[in-house]
Amino acid sequence: MDVLLHTLYPSACFLGGDKRQISMCVNDLKGKSVELACLDLEGVLIPEIWIEFANKTGIEELKATTRDIPDYDVLMKQRLRILDEHGLGLNEIQEVIATLEPLPGAREFIDWLRERFQVIILSDTFYEFSQPLMRQLGFPTLFCHRLETDESGRVVDYTLRQKDPKRQSILALQGLYYRTIAAGDSYNDTTMLGQADAGILFKSPQNVIDEFPQFPAVHEYEDLKKEFIKASNRDLSL
Ligand SMILES: [Mg+2]
Repeated sequence: MDVLLHTLYPSACFLGGDKRQISMCVNDLKGKSVELACLDLEGVLIPEIWIEFANKTGIEELKATTRDIPDYDVLMKQRLRILDEHGLGLNEIQEVIATLEPLPGAREFIDWLRERFQVIILSDTFYEFSQPLMRQLGFPTLFCHRLETDESGRVVDYTLRQKDPKRQSILALQGLYYRTIAAGDSYNDTTMLGQADAGILFKSPQNVIDEFPQFPAVHEYEDLKKEFIKASNRDLSL
Protein backbone atom coordinates (compact mmCIF):
# COMPACT_ATOMS: atom_id res chain seq x y z
CA MET A 1 0.00 0.00 0.00
CA ASP A 2 2.80 2.42 0.95
CA VAL A 3 4.53 1.70 -2.34
CA LEU A 4 1.32 2.47 -4.18
CA LEU A 5 0.84 5.71 -2.25
CA HIS A 6 4.40 6.78 -2.98
CA THR A 7 3.92 5.98 -6.66
CA LEU A 8 0.62 7.80 -6.92
CA TYR A 9 1.39 10.69 -4.63
CA PRO A 10 5.16 11.28 -4.76
CA SER A 11 4.94 14.37 -2.56
CA ALA A 12 3.73 12.13 0.28
CA CYS A 13 7.30 10.78 0.37
CA PHE A 14 8.41 14.03 2.02
CA LEU A 15 6.48 12.94 5.08
CA GLY A 16 9.00 10.21 5.69
CA GLY A 17 6.74 7.21 5.25
CA ASP A 18 4.51 7.61 8.31
CA LYS A 19 1.34 5.82 7.22
CA ARG A 20 -1.08 8.10 9.07
CA GLN A 21 0.58 11.26 7.75
CA ILE A 22 0.73 9.90 4.23
CA SER A 23 -2.93 9.00 4.27
CA MET A 24 -3.79 12.47 5.66
CA CYS A 25 -1.75 13.98 2.86
CA VAL A 26 -3.48 11.83 0.25
CA ASN A 27 -6.92 12.72 1.60
CA ASP A 28 -5.93 16.36 1.54
CA LEU A 29 -4.76 16.10 -2.05
CA LYS A 30 -7.91 14.25 -3.03
CA GLY A 31 -10.06 16.87 -1.34
CA LYS A 32 -8.43 19.68 -3.28
CA SER A 33 -7.76 17.95 -6.56
CA VAL A 34 -9.74 18.61 -9.72
CA GLU A 35 -12.32 15.95 -10.51
CA LEU A 36 -12.26 14.14 -13.83
CA ALA A 37 -15.17 12.25 -15.34
CA CYS A 38 -13.91 9.26 -17.34
CA LEU A 39 -16.45 7.66 -19.65
CA ASP A 40 -16.52 4.56 -21.75
CA LEU A 41 -17.74 5.30 -25.29
CA GLU A 42 -19.53 2.35 -26.92
CA GLY A 43 -22.69 1.37 -25.09
CA VAL A 44 -22.52 4.56 -23.00
CA LEU A 45 -22.57 7.44 -25.51
CA ILE A 46 -22.72 5.70 -28.88
CA PRO A 47 -23.96 2.30 -30.11
CA GLU A 48 -21.56 -0.65 -30.50
CA ILE A 49 -19.75 0.37 -33.68
CA TRP A 50 -19.01 -3.11 -35.12
CA ILE A 51 -22.58 -4.32 -34.56
CA GLU A 52 -24.07 -1.19 -36.15
CA PHE A 53 -21.57 -1.37 -38.98
CA ALA A 54 -22.57 -5.01 -39.60
CA ASN A 55 -26.26 -4.02 -39.59
CA LYS A 56 -25.72 -1.17 -42.05
CA THR A 57 -23.58 -3.21 -44.47
CA GLY A 58 -25.45 -6.49 -44.01
CA ILE A 59 -22.15 -8.31 -43.37
CA GLU A 60 -23.24 -10.81 -40.72
CA GLU A 61 -19.72 -12.08 -40.01
CA LEU A 62 -18.79 -8.67 -38.61
CA LYS A 63 -21.18 -9.20 -35.72
CA ALA A 64 -18.71 -11.53 -33.99
CA THR A 65 -17.51 -10.10 -30.69
CA THR A 66 -15.11 -11.20 -27.94
CA ARG A 67 -17.92 -13.44 -26.69
CA ASP A 68 -17.62 -15.50 -29.89
CA ILE A 69 -13.85 -15.15 -30.36
CA PRO A 70 -12.25 -14.48 -26.95
CA ASP A 71 -8.79 -13.73 -28.40
CA TYR A 72 -9.01 -10.03 -29.37
CA ASP A 73 -6.10 -10.32 -31.78
CA VAL A 74 -7.76 -13.20 -33.67
CA LEU A 75 -11.05 -11.27 -33.72
CA MET A 76 -9.48 -8.07 -35.07
CA LYS A 77 -7.50 -9.94 -37.74
CA GLN A 78 -10.77 -11.60 -38.83
CA ARG A 79 -12.54 -8.23 -38.97
CA LEU A 80 -9.77 -6.70 -41.07
CA ARG A 81 -9.82 -9.69 -43.42
CA ILE A 82 -13.61 -9.35 -43.88
CA LEU A 83 -13.31 -5.60 -44.56
CA ASP A 84 -10.67 -6.38 -47.15
CA GLU A 85 -12.79 -9.09 -48.81
CA HIS A 86 -15.66 -6.64 -49.18
CA GLY A 87 -13.37 -3.91 -50.52
CA LEU A 88 -14.14 -1.67 -47.57
CA GLY A 89 -11.32 0.79 -46.96
CA LEU A 90 -11.27 3.53 -44.37
CA ASN A 91 -13.25 5.97 -46.54
CA GLU A 92 -16.10 3.50 -47.07
CA ILE A 93 -16.07 2.56 -43.38
CA GLN A 94 -16.23 6.19 -42.27
CA GLU A 95 -19.07 6.87 -44.72
CA VAL A 96 -21.12 4.12 -43.08
CA ILE A 97 -20.20 5.20 -39.56
CA ALA A 98 -21.14 8.80 -40.40
CA THR A 99 -24.73 7.60 -40.83
CA LEU A 100 -24.78 6.37 -37.20
CA GLU A 101 -25.89 8.59 -34.36
CA PRO A 102 -24.97 8.86 -30.69
CA LEU A 103 -27.45 7.27 -28.27
CA PRO A 104 -30.52 9.48 -27.68
CA GLY A 105 -29.68 12.02 -24.96
CA ALA A 106 -25.90 11.42 -25.14
CA ARG A 107 -24.99 14.86 -26.50
CA GLU A 108 -27.07 16.64 -23.87
CA PHE A 109 -25.56 14.44 -21.15
CA ILE A 110 -21.96 15.07 -22.16
CA ASP A 111 -22.60 18.82 -22.43
CA TRP A 112 -24.04 18.71 -18.88
CA LEU A 113 -21.05 16.73 -17.64
CA ARG A 114 -18.46 19.03 -19.25
CA GLU A 115 -19.90 22.02 -17.42
CA ARG A 116 -19.19 20.29 -14.12
CA PHE A 117 -16.13 18.07 -14.75
CA GLN A 118 -13.15 17.79 -17.03
CA VAL A 119 -14.24 14.86 -19.21
CA ILE A 120 -12.06 12.19 -20.85
CA ILE A 121 -13.41 9.32 -22.92
CA LEU A 122 -11.49 6.08 -22.31
CA SER A 123 -12.36 3.63 -25.09
CA ASP A 124 -11.18 0.45 -26.78
CA THR A 125 -12.34 1.74 -30.16
CA PHE A 126 -10.11 3.23 -32.88
CA TYR A 127 -9.77 6.95 -33.65
CA GLU A 128 -10.48 6.32 -37.30
CA PHE A 129 -13.80 4.56 -36.55
CA SER A 130 -15.06 6.88 -33.89
CA GLN A 131 -14.29 10.16 -35.71
CA PRO A 132 -17.73 10.70 -37.34
CA LEU A 133 -19.51 9.96 -34.05
CA MET A 134 -17.13 12.06 -31.97
CA ARG A 135 -17.95 14.98 -34.27
CA GLN A 136 -21.60 14.66 -33.24
CA LEU A 137 -20.54 14.66 -29.58
CA GLY A 138 -18.52 17.88 -29.97
CA PHE A 139 -15.11 16.11 -30.03
CA PRO A 140 -14.53 15.46 -26.31
CA THR A 141 -11.01 14.25 -25.40
CA LEU A 142 -10.63 10.62 -26.43
CA PHE A 143 -7.99 8.07 -25.41
CA CYS A 144 -8.24 4.95 -27.63
CA HIS A 145 -6.37 2.89 -30.26
CA ARG A 146 -5.22 3.46 -33.84
CA LEU A 147 -5.75 1.73 -37.15
CA GLU A 148 -3.01 1.52 -39.73
CA THR A 149 -3.91 2.20 -43.36
CA ASP A 150 -1.93 2.22 -46.59
CA GLU A 151 -1.98 4.99 -49.24
CA SER A 152 -5.16 3.59 -50.80
CA GLY A 153 -7.02 3.71 -47.47
CA ARG A 154 -6.97 -0.07 -47.00
CA VAL A 155 -6.85 -1.00 -43.30
CA VAL A 156 -3.72 -3.12 -42.96
CA ASP A 157 -3.30 -3.41 -39.19
CA TYR A 158 -4.20 -1.97 -35.83
CA THR A 159 -2.22 -0.74 -32.84
CA LEU A 160 -3.43 -1.16 -29.28
CA ARG A 161 -2.12 1.71 -27.18
CA GLN A 162 -1.22 -0.52 -24.22
CA LYS A 163 -2.54 -3.43 -22.12
CA ASP A 164 -5.49 -2.66 -19.81
CA PRO A 165 -5.47 0.94 -21.15
CA LYS A 166 -8.52 2.21 -19.26
CA ARG A 167 -7.16 1.28 -15.82
CA GLN A 168 -3.68 2.49 -16.79
CA SER A 169 -5.15 5.86 -17.79
CA ILE A 170 -6.91 6.21 -14.42
CA LEU A 171 -3.68 5.27 -12.59
CA ALA A 172 -1.73 7.88 -14.54
CA LEU A 173 -4.34 10.58 -13.88
CA GLN A 174 -4.32 9.76 -10.17
CA GLY A 175 -0.54 10.17 -10.31
CA LEU A 176 -1.25 13.73 -11.49
CA TYR A 177 -3.46 14.23 -8.38
CA TYR A 178 -6.75 14.14 -10.26
CA ARG A 179 -9.76 12.63 -8.54
CA THR A 180 -11.52 10.31 -10.98
CA ILE A 181 -15.14 9.21 -11.36
CA ALA A 182 -15.65 6.61 -14.09
CA ALA A 183 -18.65 5.10 -15.85
CA GLY A 184 -18.87 2.18 -18.26
CA ASP A 185 -21.13 -0.66 -19.35
CA SER A 186 -19.08 -3.79 -19.82
CA TYR A 187 -16.40 -6.20 -18.61
CA ASN A 188 -13.61 -4.19 -20.24
CA ASP A 189 -14.59 -1.26 -18.00
CA THR A 190 -14.51 -2.99 -14.63
CA THR A 191 -10.78 -2.55 -13.93
CA MET A 192 -11.22 1.16 -14.73
CA LEU A 193 -14.23 1.40 -12.40
CA GLY A 194 -12.33 -0.41 -9.66
CA GLN A 195 -9.26 1.83 -9.95
CA ALA A 196 -11.23 5.09 -10.09
CA ASP A 197 -12.13 6.95 -6.91
CA ALA A 198 -15.73 6.09 -7.78
CA GLY A 199 -17.10 3.73 -10.44
CA ILE A 200 -20.58 3.58 -11.95
CA LEU A 201 -22.14 0.96 -14.24
CA PHE A 202 -24.29 2.49 -16.99
CA LYS A 203 -26.62 0.57 -19.31
CA SER A 204 -24.89 -2.67 -18.28
CA PRO A 205 -26.32 -6.09 -19.03
CA GLN A 206 -27.68 -7.90 -15.95
CA ASN A 207 -24.79 -10.40 -15.80
CA VAL A 208 -22.26 -7.57 -15.39
CA ILE A 209 -24.45 -5.89 -12.73
CA ASP A 210 -24.75 -9.19 -10.83
CA GLU A 211 -21.03 -9.90 -11.02
CA PHE A 212 -19.97 -6.43 -9.84
CA PRO A 213 -22.44 -5.47 -7.09
CA GLN A 214 -19.89 -3.05 -5.58
CA PHE A 215 -20.73 -0.48 -8.30
CA PRO A 216 -24.03 1.42 -8.47
CA ALA A 217 -25.86 0.56 -11.70
CA VAL A 218 -28.17 2.92 -13.60
CA HIS A 219 -29.70 2.94 -17.08
CA GLU A 220 -30.84 6.49 -17.81
CA TYR A 221 -28.74 9.64 -18.28
CA GLU A 222 -30.75 11.50 -15.63
CA ASP A 223 -29.84 8.81 -13.09
CA LEU A 224 -26.21 8.84 -14.25
CA LYS A 225 -26.08 12.59 -13.60
CA LYS A 226 -27.31 11.92 -10.04
CA GLU A 227 -24.62 9.25 -9.54
CA PHE A 228 -21.91 11.69 -10.67
CA ILE A 229 -23.25 14.29 -8.25
CA LYS A 230 -23.30 11.69 -5.46
CA ALA A 231 -19.73 10.58 -6.23
CA SER A 232 -18.38 14.12 -6.42
CA ASN A 233 -16.71 15.71 -3.41
CA ARG A 234 -18.22 19.06 -4.43
CA ASP A 235 -21.68 20.46 -3.90
CA LEU A 236 -23.06 20.03 -7.42
CA SER A 237 -26.64 20.33 -8.63
CA LEU A 238 -28.54 18.94 -11.63
MG1 LIG B 1 -18.75 -0.13 -23.71
